[in-house]
Amino acid sequence: VTFGDLGFGDNIVRALAGLGAEKPFPIQASTAPSILEGRDVLARGRTGSGKTIAFGAPLVERILRSKAGVKREFGRAPVALIMAPTRELALQIDRTVQTIARSVGLFTTQIYGGVPQARQVGALKKGVDIVIGTPGRIGDLAKQGKLDLSKIVVSVLDEADHMCELGFLEPVQEILRQTADGGQKLLFSATLDREVAALVDEFLVDPQVYEV
Ligand code: AMP
Repeated sequence: VTFGDLGFGDNIVRALAGLGAEKPFPIQASTAPSILEGRDVLARGRTGSGKTIAFGAPLVERILRSKAGVKREFGRAPVALIMAPTRELALQIDRTVQTIARSVGLFTTQIYGGVPQARQVGALKKGVDIVIGTPGRIGDLAKQGKLDLSKIVVSVLDEADHMCELGFLEPVQEILRQTADGGQKLLFSATLDREVAALVDEFLVDPQVYEV
């Protein structure tokens, strides 16, 4: 199969080829149909499996389809959220997802701690479609009313086990509770320990389970 066969539009297929992804990896071919349908997914994909494109490409394709004809507005609230345990991973995810998103005119921004908030808040004010970052700063900006999570219809948890190990279980729960009711959840984790299981129990509804 090709990415085109899976239902991705030409711009996204070209962006993926530019990232070196000509032919879908197994995790990508297996989860794309469910994600494009709007189903929740629980995937045991490790780094190197191609999980970033596995969630990034269908996420962009879904936003594009759902926003067809919607006018872009200054200050619009983001519709998708990707959380990762570290700033380094968030930036790495953004490099891939931004390339895919830009190919169809969507915008991403990065929200992580350890740097002043002003630039991040400024980017949010301009209006972005996809927020990528770490739970601490995302939660802080949400609490301060500077990040509106109520329009988030797709949430991705990358390396959920690692996020829990770093003490992010509670912020992640608080953040997800503020996202839109019935929003799609995609959870990626190498292991399924107790805290990850708590996230699965609370937030995933009838997920497609993908095991490597
Ligand atoms: P990840 O597991 O998301 O960190 O991806 C691991 C590496 O695989 C990255 O360098 C990706 O650019 C690359 N990659 C992901 N999907 C594909 C694909 N379908 N074909 C070739 N390379 C890919």
